[in-house]
Amino acid sequence: LKTKPQEELPFFTEQVKIATRNLGVIDPLSIDEYIARDGYFALHKVLFEMGPDKVIETLKKSELKGRGGAGFPTWMKWDFAKKAQGNPKYIICNADEGDPGAFMDRAVLEGDPHTIVEAMTIAAYTVGAQKGFVYVRAEYPLAIERLSFAMEKAREYGFLGDKILGTDFSFDLEIRIGAGAFVCGEETALINSIEGKRGIPRVKPPFPANKGLWGKPTLLNNVETYANIPPIIINGGEWFSQYGVEGSKGTKVFALAGNVKNTGLVEVPMGITVRKLIYDIGGGIPRGKRLKAVQTGGPSGGCIPLEHLDTPITYDNLKKLGTIVGSGGMIVMDEDSCMVDVAKYFLEFTVEESCGQCTPCRDGTRRMLEILERITEGEGTMEDLELLKELGENIMATSLCGLGQTAPQPVLSTMRYFWHEYEAHVLEKKCPAKRCKPLMRV
Ligand code: SF4
Repeated sequence: LKTKPQEELPFFTEQVKIATRNLGVIDPLSIDEYIARDGYFALHKVLFEMGPDKVIETLKKSELKGRGGAGFPTWMKWDFAKKAQGNPKYIICNADEGDPGAFMDRAVLEGDPHTIVEAMTIAAYTVGAQKGFVYVRAEYPLAIERLSFAMEKAREYGFLGDKILGTDFSFDLEIRIGAGAFVCGEETALINSIEGKRGIPRVKPPFPANKGLWGKPTLLNNVETYANIPPIIINGGEWFSQYGVEGSKGTKVFALAGNVKNTGLVEVPMGITVRKLIYDIGGGIPRGKRLKAVQTGGPSGGCIPLEHLDTPITYDNLKKLGTIVGSGGMIVMDEDSCMVDVAKYFLEFTVEESCGQCTPCRDGTRRMLEILERITEGEGTMEDLELLKELGENIMATSLCGLGQTAPQPVLSTMRYFWHEYEAHVLEKKCPAKRCKPLMRV
């Protein structure tokens, strides 16, 4: 990084910063610096020029999809909430980022908290809400502190609270702190948690847009989705959709982690290939090692093996490969990684985080973990592999919420691409990967 000027380094030139535009550029404690970078101009534009219908139209043109993992069209969600009958209505920001290796939301909240305040106020005006909640995980104390300060300043400047910018529109925000349950990132569990109930998912439908917080229409988006709103309002929907590819427009923030030289947050146009992301922006694999696979979507996703390195990252492409874009966690694994261990690590996580409400997820994932433990101890059989697959498919088909519906994914995905490693553990009682635990090393 010392040899070339910044403008020539792919780490910088390949990135397009929209959601992360202000990170490291402004002082997050200064509302004036946010305003100097067009902050709250989008809110002004919405209140005095556009009105709710034009906001929805702009979002539709932008083709922005929810960046929390589900990839649902944002404009549609906003439209459902706008048209829903019921009063009052609520706005929620999901900042309960829990995927291992993911810290996109944390960076935005810590580095640019006003963008969330502004976007949520725009959302409230659009759908007709007067009250909003930001649900932040307790593990992010600095994010909570900076967001609280930003909210205070926004009230002082008339961007939040009663009669915003002198209009009849009033809206205020509150922070609710999560207590460390991964499942509370699921929207209905999060809603239960804000209501003071046990954070467990509800049966859907009804969806939150119609019956959410305290049974009222509720619009819920994640941090990164909101961070895209002000620039889209200012520059227009077409401006945003010029980035990306058909079906996956705009940019996405990824958290590069694992065996890659440049770890950290990057924001790139959707449709970039995995190779470009890992080798050009990420700088490649350290110590001259070969890449083995990239895990996307954390414990809900799967891996992209070496042979699919030139796949453009889109919602559809990753689905075809048996994984998801997810919230943006991207864990790079080199040739020494044991894929059975990787699968076991993610399954241990979901077993720990299952809320226990439904049997397939609560008991099924435990049985899968027991099988994986047998396999990694050198005591697995070929029947175990078949059972593992069958259990995984059943859990995915019968679990109540997204956590259970995706929990077997890391196992099924590694079985699909690295079957030979599972076979080696079972038949040869050894592992071809150097970083496997000593018992199984070749
Ligand atoms: Fe709870 Fe798992 Fe069922 Fe979701 S799938 S409701 S996390 S037990």
